[in-house]
Amino acid sequence: MLTTEVENFPGFPDPILGPDLIENMRRQAEKFGAKILYEDATKVDFSTKPFKVFAGERELESKSVIISTGASSKWLGLESEKRLRGRGVSSCAACDGMFFKGKKVVVVGGGDTALEEALTLSKIASQVTVVHRRDRLRASRALQERALGNEKITFVWNSVVMEILGEKKVEGMRIKNIQTDEESTLTCDGVFIAIGNQPNTELFRGQIELDSEGYIVTHDDSKTSVEGVFAAGDVQDRKYRQAITAAAAGCKAALDAEKWLQLAWPVAV
Ligand code: NAP
Repeated sequence: MLTTEVENFPGFPDPILGPDLIENMRRQAEKFGAKILYEDATKVDFSTKPFKVFAGERELESKSVIISTGASSKWLGLESEKRLRGRGVSSCAACDGMFFKGKKVVVVGGGDTALEEALTLSKIASQVTVVHRRDRLRASRALQERALGNEKITFVWNSVVMEILGEKKVEGMRIKNIQTDEESTLTCDGVFIAIGNQPNTELFRGQIELDSEGYIVTHDDSKTSVEGVFAAGDVQDRKYRQAITAAAAGCKAALDAEKWLQLAWPVAV
């Protein structure tokens, strides 16, 4: 929902906006009978059968659960970043980019997200600087070519952010070149942190097996450590993390859950 143009989803030769792709998927799922509740799940209990999921005022019971809570943006962990979040520090150009019309912004990171953010911001801001900790980008070649060829985007290599400057709003950042140890200041009005994701699994801690970084451990494709609970998408995938691989994982989890339901809860005749 937070991404802008998705260029690599099969069946869409022209880019499609993330929210439009999701809206199409929602309509398609509802056409086949899916019911969607717009509530935050706040607690689960996988120790009872049927399982329990608590959402808003509701206590839902289910014979099987598929977890697809995805992943959220990572932050640098600086005190100044926390203090200025929402005051010029953001992790979503599609959400906050318009606040920086004609202004200078910095994007931190060197992956697909960082370059997508930089390209989105280049249409709004006067100048976009990408600060990356290495001298090589991790992003796909297509995005690299677009970003490197964009005259509004410049790169600062081998550099890490020491501090985001400003009291009430972002005014700049102090960076350090990790090869020379030299520190310098960049003036900017906005900072977009795009350094990757962490899985949204706090809700399931202690209920199913998670790995050292909090990803759900799956075996035989989508099965978790609790029989009848399945997982799909970025919540269990630290490697591919694409819309198309998440969609495929969702399909596998649905088929696995259906098969499990037939075996574990056969229809009485
Ligand atoms: P990512 O691929 O993990 O890249 C994270 C970037 O941030 C890397 O360049 C990394 O540097 C840097 N980084 C990580 N921690 C850092 C720190 N503490 N300080 C400074 N820099 C740090 O994450 P992503 O770009 O969010 O992409 C996640 C996944 O989603 C990828 O699989 C990507 O292909 C996919 N994605 C796809 C699209 C698309 O296809 N349109 C769009 C967005 C994301 P190093 O390179 O040095 O490790």
